[in-house]
Amino acid sequence: MTEESHPTDVRMSYRDPLVEKLRAEGRMQIGRLQLLLPQSFGFCWGVDRALAMVEEARQEHAGRRMWLLNSLIHNPRVNADMRAHGIGFLKGEHAVEGALDSLTQDDVVIVPAFSAEVEDMQALEERGVDLVDTTCPWVIKPHKRTLKYLREGFTTVIHGTVGHDETRATCSLVQHEGGHYVVVHDLREAGALAEFLRGKIALEELQRSLHPEAFSPGFDAAQHLAQIGIINQTTMLASESRAIGDLLRQALIERDGEAGLEQSFRDFDTICRATQDNQDAAIAVIDEQPDLYLVVGGYDSSNTKNLARVGDAQGIPSYHVEGPDNLGEVLSFRERQSGEIHQVRDWLPGEGPLKVAFTAGASTPDTILGRVIRRVAELAGESLPEPQLTV
Ligand code: SF4
Repeated sequence: MTEESHPTDVRMSYRDPLVEKLRAEGRMQIGRLQLLLPQSFGFCWGVDRALAMVEEARQEHAGRRMWLLNSLIHNPRVNADMRAHGIGFLKGEHAVEGALDSLTQDDVVIVPAFSAEVEDMQALEERGVDLVDTTCPWVIKPHKRTLKYLREGFTTVIHGTVGHDETRATCSLVQHEGGHYVVVHDLREAGALAEFLRGKIALEELQRSLHPEAFSPGFDAAQHLAQIGIINQTTMLASESRAIGDLLRQALIERDGEAGLEQSFRDFDTICRATQDNQDAAIAVIDEQPDLYLVVGGYDSSNTKNLARVGDAQGIPSYHVEGPDNLGEVLSFRERQSGEIHQVRDWLPGEGPLKVAFTAGASTPDTILGRVIRRVAELAGESLPEPQLTV
């Protein structure tokens, strides 16, 4: 993408008139094809805000070197657009070699919407760079809660993904403040923690059940699991977060009794509103029993991965794709359990009425969702109207 194609507002370049029409109407019937879209999907408030802040920074600091600490959000197209605008990456897959060490106070560094590790923030401040902090206010909520747990002497149990930018930042905050954490990714891992709390399994079995880096350095299970407080990475599956809270609460009731719970357990829902709304809306669309459910978004986007899991409960064929290039005679998609990219043939019924539901993650531009919808229509032998953008 060239500078000329969207010189002033990168957010505007992600608008798609077909998606805006579908957003307003919720459904569209074209020949044999019925398209369903949920009431809530796509760019969230936090992503919109981060993109607006980048845009403002580009104008305010025109002519200065500008960097992103790491991916602004988890969408390959958006991050490629950042690079196309001349914004270099300091960390991650696209990091410019040696850039971190060459920073001076003439540089501008953008902190992604996920926040950043304490050590990185300290290093940037020491170098005196101009910081543009796009951390989403919803991400601050689990940070504040974990600091409260720390003050009360509780260990933080994070329902999240080891290595995800947001959870890395939370873990670094806990560690920096001298506290401890344990990360559980899903109900299975939380089940192992619950069994340990009940005294049903040994520490070695708990450690085998969780990610090798799930525990804070120096974690002492006997000491640090006496009092636990739960938070969630903001983009997890909300129903699973609630189930994990209930599971651990029950385990502590069995260990400490109802009377002891007040002293040993805290639970606080830190799933963000956009994630909750997108999941609830996707569930409502799935309830209409579509023939197919397509979830569009980056393969490393946590909220998109969890939108893909919404289809599981109803047994609807559901696929997580990154964009239109994944769709053809063969469809390639991210398999939910393994995270591997799989391929499937005969994924689109060739004749008869066809009801297809779509959704898109909070970091997915409408333009990518629109191209996926058009591709499905083309493969189904139908042609879609092309409405105009309204201001
Ligand atoms: S998904 Fe939620 S936490 Fe993440 S940027 Fe959007 S609003 Fe913020």
